[in-house]
Amino acid sequence: MKNYFLLFFVLCTFTLHAQRSLIHCGSLIDGVSNRAKSNVTVIVEQDKIVSIDNGFTQPKGDDVVIDLKGHTVLPGLMDMHIHIEGESNPKAYLDRFTKNKADVAYDAAVYAEKTLMAGFTTVRDLGGSGVNISIRKAIKAGKVKGPRVFTAGKSIATTGGHADPTNGYREDLMGDPGPKEGVINGPYEARKAVRQRYKDGSDVIKITATGGVLSVAKDGSGPQFTMDELKAIVETANQYGMTTAAHAHGAEGMKRAVEAGITSIEHGTLMTPEIIELMKKKGTYYVPTITAGKSVEANAKIEGYYPAVIVPKALAIGPQIQQTFAAAYKAGVKIAFGTDAGVFDHGENAREFQYMVEVGMKPMEAIMSATINSATMLGIEKTLGSIETGKLADIVAVPGDPLKDMTLMQKISFVMKEGKIYKK
Ligand SMILES: [Zn+2]
Repeated sequence: MKNYFLLFFVLCTFTLHAQRSLIHCGSLIDGVSNRAKSNVTVIVEQDKIVSIDNGFTQPKGDDVVIDLKGHTVLPGLMDMHIHIEGESNPKAYLDRFTKNKADVAYDAAVYAEKTLMAGFTTVRDLGGSGVNISIRKAIKAGKVKGPRVFTAGKSIATTGGHADPTNGYREDLMGDPGPKEGVINGPYEARKAVRQRYKDGSDVIKITATGGVLSVAKDGSGPQFTMDELKAIVETANQYGMTTAAHAHGAEGMKRAVEAGITSIEHGTLMTPEIIELMKKKGTYYVPTITAGKSVEANAKIEGYYPAVIVPKALAIGPQIQQTFAAAYKAGVKIAFGTDAGVFDHGENAREFQYMVEVGMKPMEAIMSATINSATMLGIEKTLGSIETGKLADIVAVPGDPLKDMTLMQKISFVMKEGKIYKK
């Protein structure tokens, strides 16, 4: 009995003395309201938001005040399309022959920290070598500073398709990668590849429904999976509780992926009005990656930056994504924020906001696409994606008012993830 009292006493003392952070927000965009609130205090205890008070609550006891009166406070940002393992450079095509997995892992740790410091507290990584799964674990264990990662592990492609890891290799190196490496032919191998991803520890399944700009192959637009393969992938992924994402530029491959029930279309470059309607009907998300389009177009103009086969694709596909986004947004397709960071420098993810509002998206909606909408797509909207009592304390801030100037999203001044401050 005595011990019980002691335990009770210890627990009470501990609870009473958990230090609170009082974040004084000049302006608060909470991710759910259509308008910003001014002069509020967000109170954080351990990893959670415990209260949101009007006015600036004064500290008691050992409360800590975080003064963001000249700032706009927002939910931690989310990028639904990045590649944490790599970063574009003119020698990227040599890297795969010279870098060991350990080298890739050290690089990924650097990119992860850059991403977090840019205000992105959650990311969806859409394809790499498996280091992406390891970095997720390392971040979760607190060994590496970075965003919360949901990763696809290795992408799934068909032979010679975008994401076949041996594209462009000479014959003796090319081999015949199978489902384990993410290369499938037929529904049987499709199921096997999804199950392998599950076994590897992937959170989401990524497929490359059409050719891609940056693969060493000539055409970026044709469909690369048959309908029975796509259905097998989506069905199997859903059975294992995983969502799905399809890289797609061309219309036919995109349409097939939407019809098969894919969760999100990535890039969506040559999206037609018919596909837009189909996506609305099916509730498919669109993840635009306008920044990647602009970046590959700019890089393609630098002589020797990409292998020659890539240049015409980059010049043709790159500039179109922003207009596709404008059309999809106007039509009412669900938009989740995604940039394809890795195709350009990590940490520059917030450029996307500017490109979205440039072609008509309301600033508040652009912010919601990177907060509550992305959280909903990931299925984590009950714990993340907004600043509300009871949610995990992923909180960032920018100086001034981003609703008036979206470029401010690139000037993150404060980053908190699960109650821990990473940038101040
Ligand atoms: Zn990508």
